[in-house]
Amino acid sequence: MEYISTRGGIGAIGFIDAVLMGLADDGGLIVPRHIPQLSQDMLAKWQKLSYADLALEIFSLYIDGEIPHAELRKLIQTSYSTFRHPEVTPVRRIRDDLQILELFHGPTFAFKDVALQFLGNLYSYISRQNHSIIHILGATSGDTGASAIEGVRGKDGIRICILHPHGKVSKVQELQMTTVGDPNVLNLSVDGNFDDCQRIIKELFADVAFKQEYHLRAINSINFARILAQTVYYFYAYFRVAEQGVQAASVVNFSVPTGNFGDIFAGYLAKKMGLPVGKLILATNENNILERFVNEGVYEPSEFHMTYSPSMDIQVASNFERYLYYLCGENAGTVSGLMNAFKQEGKITIPADLLTQVQQIFAAYGVENDECLAAIGEVYSKYDYLMDPHTACGVAAAEKLANKAEVTVALSTAHPAKFGEALELIPIEFTHPPEIAALFEKPQHQTRVSGSNNAVKAELLRFF
Ligand SMILES: *Cc1c(COP(=O)(O)O)cnc(C)c1O
Repeated sequence: MEYISTRGGIGAIGFIDAVLMGLADDGGLIVPRHIPQLSQDMLAKWQKLSYADLALEIFSLYIDGEIPHAELRKLIQTSYSTFRHPEVTPVRRIRDDLQILELFHGPTFAFKDVALQFLGNLYSYISRQNHSIIHILGATSGDTGASAIEGVRGKDGIRICILHPHGKVSKVQELQMTTVGDPNVLNLSVDGNFDDCQRIIKELFADVAFKQEYHLRAINSINFARILAQTVYYFYAYFRVAEQGVQAASVVNFSVPTGNFGDIFAGYLAKKMGLPVGKLILATNENNILERFVNEGVYEPSEFHMTYSPSMDIQVASNFERYLYYLCGENAGTVSGLMNAFKQEGKITIPADLLTQVQQIFAAYGVENDECLAAIGEVYSKYDYLMDPHTACGVAAAEKLANKAEVTVALSTAHPAKFGEALELIPIEFTHPPEIAALFEKPQHQTRVSGSNNAVKAELLRFF
């Protein structure tokens, strides 16, 4: 399998080089040259597979022998053995037509573990193969940092440094990152906000000599390996619905809470591979750039809102360009042109015929803050099921837009206790799972730094 850039400016590379490159060197996003097509026969064969075996089949199509089969199987098994649920991502039926795909049974109680447990083990494998130490550098507003640290803590050949804005992540998120005592983990608590952390990371990555000397690698959601790992649970959920025999499960719709277009792009990829996906319902919060794109054909950031679903408080969706590439008929020249226009004019407007294509696949709804809390309260009282605010956006959007004669699976991206602040407002009482409660007793490890590149670089040099 060869990988290319959405902007056409890199030569074809293999899977491992695509993972190591992260963002394409020409500023585009990396995509497979061809999307593997599945036959009905293959889908039927996959129907009964365990989560790990299904992941092995799907990953093999994209890794294509670059990692020996037995080695890949081991990487996958190690990655998903850390999940608390034997099914990894179980499906809960709250009504026949509305089911919830629980993606939060990994170590940090948020869906990012599904991809980052695998990416951590993959980096460790690559480090062993290349006999070099990989340094991971990232910034987080909460979930990604905790999940990335959990994915690589204690692993040989990898050191990780995560910047978070001092005092601006939730208490549970801070504890998840900073109570890790492994010597290969460095938490920098930066005076400033998330944008300051992002800017520092960006500028350090732009320091080519520094980047190369230390083999600096990123973990953000534009890495193709993350998308690939997230594709698996769409298949898994489809098979669970199909085996219930409810209604005509000939197609299944998915409702996906998304900010960066990462999670929902994985669903789009599954559909393109041949999974019978009906509509992809794109759920956002008050930061609704993606909703406006789907409904109006204009992609343009607007005012930033703080919401109860902070992991979707995003203005520019870093994975959007991947979808744009397919929408433009895989024409890298068109994509480059649109992205340049976006840089210069601050927006992209697509013609009516393309908007029709978008709307054949996607429907979108931006959930307001009050609506989000109301959805949590309603589902709790009607179905005795407690959702976190991100999940609630997905369910509220499904209730609004889904065809009730078909089955819609709403993705649950975090455990409710992880965002307890919102539950207290409703109010709903909740208890922390024991793993989270235990964090409050552990010592914290973090270094506070000023928001300057030099201060951060000095800490990195001490750590590396
Ligand atoms: C990251 C995150 C999302 C959004 O994921 P995208 O990659 O932006 O689609 C949704 N919910 C939670 C809890 C998250 O951590």
